[in-house]
Amino acid sequence: MAHTIHNLGFPRIGAQRELKTALESYWRGSSDAAALYETGKSLRERHWQQQQTAGLQFVPTGDFAWYDHIATWAATLGVVSNRYRQNEKITLNSLFLLGRGRAPSGQDTAAGEMTKWFDTNYHYIVPELKADCVFNIEWTQCLDETAAAIAQGLNVKPVIPGPLTFLWLSKGEFNGGCDDEKLLLLDKLLLAYEKILQQFALFGVSWVQIDEPILVLELPLSWQTAFERAYHRLQNSAVKLLLTTYFGGLNNNLMLATRLPVAGLHIDCVRAPEQLKPVVDNLGPYKILSVGIIDGRNIWRTNLAQAFNLLQPLSEKLGDRLWLAPSCSLLHVPVDLAQETELDTQLHSWLSFAIQKLDELNLLSRALSDANVLNSEEWQSHNAAMVDRQLSSRTYNHELRARLENLPSLQHGRSLPYSQRIKQQQQKWALPLFPTTTIGSFPQTADIRKWRKAYRDGDLDAVSYERNIKAIIAETIALQEALGLDVLVHGESERNDMSEYFGEHLTGIAVSEFGWVQSYGSRCVKPPIIYGDILRPAAITVEWSHYAQTQTQLPVKGMLTGPVTLLCWSFVRDDQSRKNTCQQLALALRDEVADLQAAGIGIIQIDEPAFREGQPLNSRDKDAYYQWAVNCFHITTGVADDTTQIHTHMCYSDFNDIMKPIAQLDADVITLETARSRLELLDAQVLANYPSDIGPGVWDIHSPIVPSVAEIQTLLERAAQLIPVERLWVNPDCGLKTRGWPETLESLRNMVTAAQLLRKQYAA
Ligand code: GLN
Ligand code: ZN
Repeated sequence: MAHTIHNLGFPRIGAQRELKTALESYWRGSSDAAALYETGKSLRERHWQQQQTAGLQFVPTGDFAWYDHIATWAATLGVVSNRYRQNEKITLNSLFLLGRGRAPSGQDTAAGEMTKWFDTNYHYIVPELKADCVFNIEWTQCLDETAAAIAQGLNVKPVIPGPLTFLWLSKGEFNGGCDDEKLLLLDKLLLAYEKILQQFALFGVSWVQIDEPILVLELPLSWQTAFERAYHRLQNSAVKLLLTTYFGGLNNNLMLATRLPVAGLHIDCVRAPEQLKPVVDNLGPYKILSVGIIDGRNIWRTNLAQAFNLLQPLSEKLGDRLWLAPSCSLLHVPVDLAQETELDTQLHSWLSFAIQKLDELNLLSRALSDANVLNSEEWQSHNAAMVDRQLSSRTYNHELRARLENLPSLQHGRSLPYSQRIKQQQQKWALPLFPTTTIGSFPQTADIRKWRKAYRDGDLDAVSYERNIKAIIAETIALQEALGLDVLVHGESERNDMSEYFGEHLTGIAVSEFGWVQSYGSRCVKPPIIYGDILRPAAITVEWSHYAQTQTQLPVKGMLTGPVTLLCWSFVRDDQSRKNTCQQLALALRDEVADLQAAGIGIIQIDEPAFREGQPLNSRDKDAYYQWAVNCFHITTGVADDTTQIHTHMCYSDFNDIMKPIAQLDADVITLETARSRLELLDAQVLANYPSDIGPGVWDIHSPIVPSVAEIQTLLERAAQLIPVERLWVNPDCGLKTRGWPETLESLRNMVTAAQLLRKQYAA
């Protein structure tokens, strides 16, 4: 008997980032909406086809989005603010106004707030709800796309965000801002869900996938109760519901989830295999169980022999009530490994991207229904690659392992406390009050991108490449001097991306050619693949930073991506703990700090924008995470002399409740993004208690708008009421690589002027 295999969602950007290209061309005005629609249509059709070829019983529909699937769902429900509408209607351009504040038609406006999708690096647009909002089906994309797939003869399973997850992720002005207030909208919201499900039923759809990933979070009782209320109501709909949970175990919600009156339940058995038994025990006699068995968050080939052993007893027990799927939507992995022709064959054989994952699913289900498959060449060679990886000497390095033995002596951090270090640093650097600096990158011009590509492709020799980059560095340094900045940077023009660049220079890490994953809208990242022990064969950044320092008498700040961020923004090996891998990264970066210091770079910034992203979803695991994350940072900074000033930088996350571990990093200076969260949102008390130097960003670098001197001054004055002025730095929110030169120069000029005015004010 064959088990049903299905998929929770497919990457929508395209194997060659076709959607990105089409979107950006449309936004620029180089092509029209018809061309964009055409690209979207052909991508969807291709993806359905690929999934059908992989033998899935259902192909998912409704997982496509022009910008973001949560924004699309808000549009579907008609909860889109007037400022994004055109003639009161929701249009294609409304989705772009909502996502990025700008579209080929319509007024520029403030974009919707964007935040991270659970613990992934995907960002969704936070829906905005009002207490009196009405839910009307105003945008029918998911219905239309489903109808189109059906018309092609496909067996479809529409995918929609569940009502409680949708409410949980939304924000709005509710009484006292209390989350429970949102639950007052539930009845109205369910009416809209009933209508949509009714539509699907009319199309002849039998199963609808309803995503409720918040069931892996710790939910207040009121929300647990609301789940019961909601699904008791939705059980009357004419379609069967597959309630999907992912990114963790059900834990406290296990009884709740297994007892909800839905036809099927999907659980993530990659992240939380231990929940399989209790879920099965409580499933009841009728419910379908969909087991997420192929990792939707990582790129390793599945250990099918192990999966087989786990599932075989269940296969007999549940029969056709057992379905198999990836753990979550494949949105979080690249599309097709077949495109990777540059990776060596061994490494290639260890990996699996979206298409390969579906093939694995197919193979596993065939093996479960036919024991002969276990003797097939296909099964054996698949498993041989697993064994090859387990036994490979490539993942293991003796030198590094020996060094790790001494780790306890390396994670003590700095030798003197901040209060003493800072005095020595002040003496050495003699910086003015309100010192000005930037976060690292400067605008990346078309020329710079062209040189990097030509060099990579072998069309530009190393000497010419170096000469070109150094010319840019010299120019950038001269500009910063002319602007009157106090601590300069080399500008990062040699870096394509802050994690990929380091991935390229460390052994044990591979970089793919087309391994793109959507981060938000049209933005994609190519996460490095950490497959083995990490070594730094040679200094990575020293040459550039040192060169920059030769161009000026002012201090140049070295620029590193921190160990936690490198970990969070990579595909990480799954044969040891994340903590161990992070320690290895930290050691490699420690050597880089030592080398920078030896080369005369006395101020070094270690970026940790993903510090919070690494936090586990379950609060139970939170303290342990921060403990090792902080320790790793200390491994990296521990070699710094007392006079070496260590900076760190964080952005685009909520800092208030993690200020304690942030303070424990014990950096001499932290620069923070504050435009998105507004300085007011940084808890005054929290700021006042921060122990060392701090630079709250005074320029929102995501906008082309130039902040005026007066605006910056106001922000700084406000900060100066909370932070002792001798510890206050002046800087933008984040790196400037996506900005153009004209607004960069103007904004920095204003920033320096504001700092100078404040110096006078406070010196008096
Ligand atoms: N140093 C990096 C830059 O300026 C920091 C980027 C980030 O925080 N994401 O680009
Ligand atoms: Zn940043």
